[in-house]
Amino acid sequence: MRWSNWMKIVLVLVSCVVGGAAAGAEQDKPLWQWTPEEMKEHVKTVRSGRDLTPEQWPEGAKVAVSISFDFDTEPVWLGFQGNRSPSYMSRGEYGARAGLPRILKLLDKHDIPATFFIPAATMVLHPAAVQTILDRPQHEIGFHSYIHESPLSLSEDQEREVYARAMDIFVETVGKRPVGFRSAAWDLTPATIKIVKDMGFLYDSSMMADDRPYSLLADGQESGLIELPVEWILDDWPYFQLSWGSQHVGLRTADEVYSIWAAEFDGAYEEGSLYMLVTHPQVIGHRYRMQMLERLVTYMKSKPGVWFATHEQIARYVQEQAAEQ
Ligand SMILES: [Zn+2]
Repeated sequence: MRWSNWMKIVLVLVSCVVGGAAAGAEQDKPLWQWTPEEMKEHVKTVRSGRDLTPEQWPEGAKVAVSISFDFDTEPVWLGFQGNRSPSYMSRGEYGARAGLPRILKLLDKHDIPATFFIPAATMVLHPAAVQTILDRPQHEIGFHSYIHESPLSLSEDQEREVYARAMDIFVETVGKRPVGFRSAAWDLTPATIKIVKDMGFLYDSSMMADDRPYSLLADGQESGLIELPVEWILDDWPYFQLSWGSQHVGLRTADEVYSIWAAEFDGAYEEGSLYMLVTHPQVIGHRYRMQMLERLVTYMKSKPGVWFATHEQIARYVQEQAAEQ
């Protein structure tokens, strides 16, 4: 090799090392060295925008109540928890086999609509169970990943690719595109909201900046997406799901959880805002928990002016109301 070619290689290597070190230094910069501008820049990737609580809910209702059932089955153990053994698969199967029929029976009995977020993998593994939801068109089915993968380790291209694959299965199963997106990990990459917007969703339901519906800002601009926020305190998983390998070690009593969920409802009722409850058929579907859920539904129904709706109905309503203001 000629000397000039050696020099070119050396120069390329040096620039890689220097460039890499510079990029690494920026990434590894201790938080206490962040400037105020860097702090503001970091948090504005996805931010809460306008409060979208309407002046009033349909038919003069005081509060909107929406219950979602994240029908995760086996994928939550595979994709989120990293457990692949037959025992864990059976825990997921419980949701389809035992939990879901009890949930549908409760919803039928009380005549309330709900939203089911379903990973594409659940549609592949449990088509008959998914069909029992489709047989009840009052319920909404939302988008919930391919195999409950966390997007955090994916590049933007990979994230787009996996959602596109999940969407094909979703449309094939449900017969139409979903309007609601919920991240499987309740976590977003910096690209997620852009992708969700590009895919034509109406709302996201993965964020936690408020109890009320709000508009989502992406990089400081209105994204056009509505956020129907979630909260771990209004999720059955941390209270009830025993999981050795994580911080979820709950086997709480039904009364304890009821007291939290009912008090949260009382607060939403008082404020005239939104009550969003997130549950999982494999978690809430156990007998003593279903009794508690029925007690909660009965309590909420005993109050005047409670609008039970799907997430989609709420998102469309707040969008309409916001457009009129
Ligand atoms: Zn899930």
